Amino acid sequence: MAGPVFDQVLIGGRWVPAAGGTYPVVNPATEEIAGHAPACSVAQAEAAASAARDAFERGPWRTMSGGERAALLRTAAERFQGEMDGLVELTIAETGAVRAVAEAQQVRAVAGRLLRAAELATAPLEQGVPPRETGRSLAAGVIVREPVGVVACITPFNFPMTNCAGKIGPALACGNTVVVKPSPVDPLGVAELCRIVDAVLPPGVVNFVNGEGAEIGEALVRSPDVDMISFTGSTAVGRRIKEAAAGRMKRTVLELGGKSANIIFADCDVDRAFASAMSVWTFHSGQICIAGTRVLIEEPLYEPFTRRLAASGPTLRIGDPREPGVVVGPLVSAAQRTRVERFITRGREEGATLACGGRRPPHLSRGYYVEPTLFTDARNDMTIAREEIFGPVITAIPFRDEAEAIALANQSDYGLYGYVWTGDAARGLRVAHAVRTGTMQINGSPLNPDAPFGGYKLSGVGRVGGQWTLGAYSELKYIGWIA
Ligand code: NAP
Repeated sequence: MAGPVFDQVLIGGRWVPAAGGTYPVVNPATEEIAGHAPACSVAQAEAAASAARDAFERGPWRTMSGGERAALLRTAAERFQGEMDGLVELTIAETGAVRAVAEAQQVRAVAGRLLRAAELATAPLEQGVPPRETGRSLAAGVIVREPVGVVACITPFNFPMTNCAGKIGPALACGNTVVVKPSPVDPLGVAELCRIVDAVLPPGVVNFVNGEGAEIGEALVRSPDVDMISFTGSTAVGRRIKEAAAGRMKRTVLELGGKSANIIFADCDVDRAFASAMSVWTFHSGQICIAGTRVLIEEPLYEPFTRRLAASGPTLRIGDPREPGVVVGPLVSAAQRTRVERFITRGREEGATLACGGRRPPHLSRGYYVEPTLFTDARNDMTIAREEIFGPVITAIPFRDEAEAIALANQSDYGLYGYVWTGDAARGLRVAHAVRTGTMQINGSPLNPDAPFGGYKLSGVGRVGGQWTLGAYSELKYIGWIA
């Protein structure tokens, strides 16, 4: 079965044939065709931006009450929930996620994000400012929150639908209109999501374009009809987008790469810390921006901890994500596997010890697999400790004391996320304060959707999550008068 064929893009409420026809989307587990995706033209991307602009100016989306927008977003979430079973299969086929990850983080999470967006839509739009004496009169006024306008939502390959929902949900909740541009590697689920949401909202509020090559995203970033770019992806592309957006001072939210430290003190609950280190291998094969890929381990624990990791890596079941019991699936594409293999070669050349993995699994003749890989005897200045690999590769580095752990964690161009494991609560808090990164999780604290999320340094610009999402996707206006 060749999978679904999407040969259309969504412009102004109408699905129209993509100018460039279709191209095949490859199932990374089997190298067979998972479906076909539309290849639109630059002119169609520009037309989608223009349609989003018309829908924004025309209303009624922008001028609806928050309650009305919330009701429509809830309906979209319910319709999405009604189609989740089929979407899980499609997601496994195009992303290579193992079933548990596809179900929870790739599909159910989307409905959760749309429902949270519905809650956001009802946040108060106005806030009074108390009168202030200014000499001869009183200044008084009100702050109003308004949509930014047209938001281009440009997303990466790793969690395509979840990432898209995390952008269109809040953008729509705030009254913006959107143009969605997913990664061409696995855009089919995103096309389905846009179909479902568009069917509920006024025409032109959600637009969808897709095609191979950077020019489609570039056209959106350049378009005078686009007011804001919400981008998740690599730091290299984020930098290009920020430069291109500067000309018209477009608002950007940039969620970029990471090289997060997972700091493990010898007094911690070692089994739980061990499970967190292993998640670099088992959670979507390390293709996660927040993965704790630099595992910093206190010296007395370093040797037994890494020995246990090296023994455990080869026991993890790697293979077709549809098979029960498989916990490590493929990388998303041949290109991604090549990138990861280059880093593995570099790690060996720079003198780190390959303690396990490093190869294509010999028993799998098809699919873009890389074995769970561990480098020991690594230094923080090695390429494998500095650059984002985005694959199942752990770099383990020893540290002597708290000060050295903090210094190593901070010797990074990135600052997206971080983890600390210790039996000493005060030390956990000290370390969490000292590491320059957008999030620090102590002893396996769960993800919290009410918390701000974003990066320091090369990991990005801006914050989303909880109430911070409102600030990201809206403008604040002050209306003042003399009292
Ligand atoms: P990527 O290569 O940066 O691509 C991301 C998106 O940008 C794709 O849709 C891509 O489409 C588009 N794009 C590329 N060049 C563009 C340009 N000049 N103008 C506008 N759009 C352009 O990232 P990826 O390989 O898909 O994803 C992996 C990266 O995402 C990792 O670095 C990871 O850390 C990051 N990520 C970050 C977060 C976070 O929250 N911080 C979350 C998930 C992933 P084309 O391929 O068609 O050009």
